[in-house]
This record gives sequence, C-alpha cells and structure tokens, in this order.
Amino acid sequence: MTSPLPVMEHFYTLQGEGFYQGRAAYFIRLGGCDVGCVWCDVKDSWDADKHPLFEVRSLTAEVKRTPAEIVVITGGEPLMHNLDELTTELREAGLQTNIETSGSSTLSGSWDWICLSPKKFKEPLPEVIAVASELKIIIFNKSDFSWAEKYAALVPATCKLFLQPEWSKAAQMTPLIVEYIKAHPQWELSLQIHKYINVP
Ligand code: SF4
Repeated sequence: MTSPLPVMEHFYTLQGEGFYQGRAAYFIRLGGCDVGCVWCDVKDSWDADKHPLFEVRSLTAEVKRTPAEIVVITGGEPLMHNLDELTTELREAGLQTNIETSGSSTLSGSWDWICLSPKKFKEPLPEVIAVASELKIIIFNKSDFSWAEKYAALVPATCKLFLQPEWSKAAQMTPLIVEYIKAHPQWELSLQIHKYINVP
C-alpha cells in the first residue's frame, strides 16, 4: 500500500533552468512548503491540503502516457514528503529521477540528479548539501553572491554551480551575474528559459 501525495500540477514540458535546461522533462509539483521565500512565485503550493492526492502508481502512469525520459519532482518543497515509494516506482518504470529542493527537510527517495537551491528563509540540511549534483543560487540582490560562495564551498567537488536571477529582478541582476561569472568561471548562468518561450 503506497501513501498518496498532494499534487499541485503535473505536466510535460522543457526544463527551463540549470543543468538540464532545454531538455524535455515531466514535472510533478508537489504541494506543501514551509520555507516562506518572500519572492516565491508558487505561493499556491504552500498549503499541501489545497491540492488533490494522487497515488504514486497513477502518477507514474500519467508520466508514461508521454515519451518523457526525465521526471523532475519539484514543489513547494518536495522533501516535506517521503519520496521513497514515488522514486522507486518511477525508476522501475525506466524513468530518470531528478529533484529540485531547498534541502531544508530530511532527504528521502532515490535520485539520479539532485538540484539544491538553498533559501535564506530555511537553510539546507548538511545531508542534502553533501549529495547535491547541482547548486542553483537565486540572485535577488548583491549580497547573494557571497551567500552563493558559502554553499559552493560545502557541496561535492563534482557539483555543477549555477547562478540564476530572481525573475522580478532579472533586469538589474543579470548584468551583475554575467560580470561575476566572467570573474569566477566555475559558475554558469541559469535563466528561466521556460518563461521566455512561454511554456509552463
Ligand atoms: S522553497 Fe520554493 S516553493 Fe517554497 S517558498 Fe521558497 S521558492 Fe516558494
């Protein structure tokens, strides 16, 4: 017997951010978040009770209706839920399991790719920092560059490093990010390209 999960939305699209930017991926956005970022663009996700419950098996079946090879579990904060059953099912169905997380809740699930996007409002746990495949820092103001370096020093040496402008500040922050990356070439630029090409 598997436990159902609250799902805000699920859809097949292109990953718009980070290492898998531009790749086709099936997104499952779970409800529930206790991080409270002031600039959050999915505040509707915060209350898990507002979202319908889906059995893990029916979610996997939805993904398998598409030719998707990669599934991205996002939120909300997806690690507020135990994701062992979901990721086991997805992997048994031959799917790649990626997660986008703030790392602020206990790690569960079996992951092919962990995108850690830490937030100042509830900092990540060491157990998640230690297994990050990708570190994605949202740049909202100038002080976020030094905050980014704090986490770059903690993630594994193989971890990919991305700086991404916060959407409402993109006009001011993107030129600063470009200059920062030129001076610190271990970082790469991540843009929310799905917002430019108008896909979810
Ligand atoms: S962690 Fe994500 S979903 Fe939660 S408040 Fe921050 S931006 Fe929003």
